[in-house]
Amino acid sequence: MTALSHVDAVVIGAGIAGASIGAELAQDRKVVVLEAEDMPGYHTTGRSAAIFIASYGNATICKLNRASLAFLRQPPAEFSDEGFLSPRGNLYIGRAEDKAAVDALHAASPHLIPHTTEEALKRVPILRPEAAAYVLEEPDSEDIDVARLHQCWLRRLTRAGSEVRCNAGVTALSRGADGLWTVETKAGTFVAPLVINAAGAWADDIAKMAGLAPIGLQPLRRTGAILPGPAEGGFDHWQMINDVMERFYFKPDAGKLLVSPVDEVPMDPHDAYVDDMDLAEGLYRFEQAVTLEVTRVDRSWAGLRTFAPDRSPVVGFDPGTKGFFWFAGQGGYGIQTCPAMAWLGSALATGQPLRDELTREAFDPQEVAPRRTMVNRLRKH
Ligand SMILES: Cc1cc2nc3c(=O)[nH]c(=O)nc-3n(C[C@H](O)[C@H](O)[C@H](O)COP(=O)(O)OP(=O)(O)OC[C@H]3O[C@@H](n4cnc5c(N)ncnc54)[C@H](O)[C@@H]3O)c2cc1C
Repeated sequence: MTALSHVDAVVIGAGIAGASIGAELAQDRKVVVLEAEDMPGYHTTGRSAAIFIASYGNATICKLNRASLAFLRQPPAEFSDEGFLSPRGNLYIGRAEDKAAVDALHAASPHLIPHTTEEALKRVPILRPEAAAYVLEEPDSEDIDVARLHQCWLRRLTRAGSEVRCNAGVTALSRGADGLWTVETKAGTFVAPLVINAAGAWADDIAKMAGLAPIGLQPLRRTGAILPGPAEGGFDHWQMINDVMERFYFKPDAGKLLVSPVDEVPMDPHDAYVDDMDLAEGLYRFEQAVTLEVTRVDRSWAGLRTFAPDRSPVVGFDPGTKGFFWFAGQGGYGIQTCPAMAWLGSALATGQPLRDELTREAFDPQEVAPRRTMVNRLRKH
């Protein structure tokens, strides 16, 4: 018979979500983070565009962005000697016919700074003028060192005496009459009063495994590609360009250009890979907006961004049972929101008050409560 490991909390998934909430919980309890793959961050966390954009996401996400910014810029010394952000900047651009979308974005984020087409072309000279008829600058937009941020969360966890187990995919979980969850994996069986579901695209599958109703999370495929930049070089300082209608985005990346077709193709959870046709169509849209010709793709990848129907994350106890805590639906914002999300999740899971960074934003946990998605689904039927 396999030995049982008793812990205070089992976290399922060692992406940025599981690593960060696990690290926070580990400060005063014994935690094990279970990861199906042979290394943490193999799925969506290792496939991001590594950007922080304060105005990116719905109103709930924007609160989490703002609550996370100071920590990402300057974390406490015991977390990291240096910050995780470096200057980038972001220009939203729109064509003449995109005025309504540009106006809506500006109304939602009044801090955005309007610029002329000429100014945008001065900053990013490959833009075609007609693609940048409208320009809004996001001043709070910076590159994120994702790998180091993820490692620092994992280090915070292990320094506190807790652990990550890789090759430990959860195959079954159930709650006994004693109120404890038994979590079975290939690497052994774990028993805990608290289970944190941070399984990214697989979070609904974990709930079903536990005999609970799924949220209706939808993984959406998003592609990234690395291309050569202009032959003359000198573009490392360019700001990121985000088409307001989400036709494409691009930014400099280690001497090349990172371009995304901003695709959102619904998928079942899996090890995502590039659809060549989607990428080709996206690169065509990119070429319509710039004077640069795409001559080759050096590298491309795809990942799953997983959303609840209202595009806010799902954080809180499942209303159907005790001790099963959702920490899912991070969508396209899981890196930039990870500090605030980890503080929020660990506070709600342990009955602690919210940190000042969240209360200053008037953050209401009901905005992310699992119950809201269930009520909305019942209303639809
Ligand atoms: C192309 C692209 C660009 C992006 N750009 C940005 C960006 O610029 N900024 C930003 O903030 N966000 C961005 N995102 C989104 C961000 O990457 C995600 O929100 C974030 O990585 C989600 O983290 P996660 O830990 O929830 O998921 P994951 O990293 O996928 O982690 C979930 C983990 O759970 C594990 N798991 C699943 N089932 C089991 C099981 N049964 N047992 C054990 N483990 C299991 C998986 O193996 C996986 O490692 C981007 C995403 C993509 C795809």
